Amino acid sequence: MSLPHLAGVVLELVDCAAAGVVTLDARARSAGADCPHCGSTSDQVHGRDMRRLADAVVGGANVVIELLMRRFKCRNPGCWALTFAEQIARLTSPHTRYTPLVRGQLTSIALALAGRAGARLAGVMSLRVAKDTLLRLVRATPEGPVGQIRVLGVDDFALRKGDSYATILVDLETRRPVDVLPGRDANRRPHG
Ligand SMILES: [Zn+2]
Repeated sequence: MSLPHLAGVVLELVDCAAAGVVTLDARARSAGADCPHCGSTSDQVHGRDMRRLADAVVGGANVVIELLMRRFKCRNPGCWALTFAEQIARLTSPHTRYTPLVRGQLTSIALALAGRAGARLAGVMSLRVAKDTLLRLVRATPEGPVGQIRVLGVDDFALRKGDSYATILVDLETRRPVDVLPGRDANRRPHG
């Protein structure tokens, strides 16, 4: 079985005991890691942390990777970073709880069907995601030049939990976000 996004980790345990969930316990395969600030290699472990990542669905089951991630001491005395967290190529990136594989799937869904419709489609595909998360993925995609828009998608989403709402406009032909307006009313101009 070829799973390229798991090439950098050793699977310690595959647990299918919970209904509809496959849990993979994994750790990095490499002995050390490169400091992202200065590039020097370190194998001096400073600490360990468990990180949970949602991965692509297998056989209708949600896959959760419980990854034991290490923090290393940077051994370069000239580097301003005392410690750094390891990242595993094709599997982790800072501040995201999705693997690049499932993030790519969710971004494709979000660009095709932003908002509630996308969240419903993801649900059918056993990918649990909030519509606001899908809209944030749309906002995170690089913007191209905006030409004549023939099919416009509109949805509203919360900027932060319990905070104000914004309306996102998406060009449904180019699958690109066009604008984000404050408030829930798409007819309102951003500045009166
Ligand atoms: Zn460093």
